[in-house]
Amino acid sequence: MNAHYKVLILGAGTGGISVAARLAKKLSPTDLAIIDPAQKHYYQPLWTLSGAGVVPKQESERNQIDFIPPGVDWIQEGVARLIPQANEVETDSGKKITYDFMIVALGLRLAWEKIPGAKESLGKNGVCTIYEYDQVDKTEEMLRSFSGGTAVFTMPPVPIKCAGAPQKIMYLADEIFRNNGVRNQSKLFFATAGKAIFGVPVFAEALTKVVQRKKIDLLTQYQLISIDGLNKKAVFRVTEASGQASDQELKYDLIHVVPPMTAPTVVSESELAEKEGDQKGWLSVDKFTLQHKLFPNVFGIGDVTGVPNSKTGAAIRKQAPVVVENLLSAMTQKPIAAHYDGYSSCPLVTEVGKVILAEFGYDGKLLPSFPVNPAKERRSMWFLKRYLLPKLYWYGMLRGLL
Ligand SMILES: Cc1cc2nc3c(=O)[nH]c(=O)nc-3n(C[C@H](O)[C@H](O)[C@H](O)COP(=O)(O)OP(=O)(O)OC[C@H]3O[C@@H](n4cnc5c(N)ncnc54)[C@H](O)[C@@H]3O)c2cc1C
Repeated sequence: MNAHYKVLILGAGTGGISVAARLAKKLSPTDLAIIDPAQKHYYQPLWTLSGAGVVPKQESERNQIDFIPPGVDWIQEGVARLIPQANEVETDSGKKITYDFMIVALGLRLAWEKIPGAKESLGKNGVCTIYEYDQVDKTEEMLRSFSGGTAVFTMPPVPIKCAGAPQKIMYLADEIFRNNGVRNQSKLFFATAGKAIFGVPVFAEALTKVVQRKKIDLLTQYQLISIDGLNKKAVFRVTEASGQASDQELKYDLIHVVPPMTAPTVVSESELAEKEGDQKGWLSVDKFTLQHKLFPNVFGIGDVTGVPNSKTGAAIRKQAPVVVENLLSAMTQKPIAAHYDGYSSCPLVTEVGKVILAEFGYDGKLLPSFPVNPAKERRSMWFLKRYLLPKLYWYGMLRGLL
């Protein structure tokens, strides 16, 4: 480990490795370092399928070391403090590292503490989640052993990562319950803090038809605020059309919980965070160039960025070339010209073998990759999600080829 690097990358998840792989082809790898204590790298999109028993969760896990580009230093520590005024970061053990340029790719934080009772109930009392790797098996077990009753699937306020996942697991659960002959004795609810089932109207319309077909009750502006695991009760803050809010209790037999999400504390408490508005706490970057608004030698990628997109790995696939091009321009005093259009994609699994591939950019602009009606459930898109995308991830994106 050196005390100074030309480019320091914080986080070795989807975003960090994607940019490291690209930069290692353009710069001398020894000028680069990645800081991340995690020994494992996860392809998180598979957790939805693993939670329903379609794919073993181990398929989503690899050793981090296999994806650090050769020659790049991997500092296996956490980042404890960001000091951008001094072009410096401090690690958990108190080491100080300086940089010429920095890319922040620290992902996001699951804010379990915002739902009292949830974290301690996970894996028991009918409470499950696919948002934690170590809860994925337990989720499958709970869905398979469900013997009927009330099953609730929650969706917190956005932004969250993969805003489609909270309902994908519900559709797969519905299928498991049907196959096990318990669906007729069950009531399913999708309780979302949002005003609609999905943020982009054309997909919201298609998904509303899916929940109607599956006889799932859609509860909008229902925000989960606490769980009483022992008594299997959940409290929701319900906002009426008039704007009036009240708290309502719902008894459940099974509840799939998605927690609210925030930027990692090290970012939200730093000078790099957005100070006001919708993106408060997230990394303050220009939504097109992904360059920091105050510190031009800092760029951001992925879930940590305070941009009004939908946080997904698919978004990162489009952000990585933009960040790398703009960073190289900044290094050579050229204009910052590459633009990210807000692209994100969510393969909305509506049952095993069927997917609506939602692709859109800023302001909900449709950005389909294929010349077909994007709001239709398709078998071809299932093959893309289940088989092709994981391969493209491990062998393309993380190698800087896609
Ligand atoms: C259930 C689920 C389903 C999903 N489905 C899809 C999908 O279908 N399609 C899709 O495109 N996306 C999907 N996603 C979202 C996608 O996985 C994420 O958007 C993407 O992985 C974000 O990448 P990132 O690099 O921003 O963060 P991450 O990949 O989470 O990486 C962040 C890294 O930062 C490290 N880190 C954190 N704090 C520190 C610190 N203080 N110091 C050092 N390192 C630190 C972590 O160890 C981690 O390695 C899904 C996610 C989930 C959970």
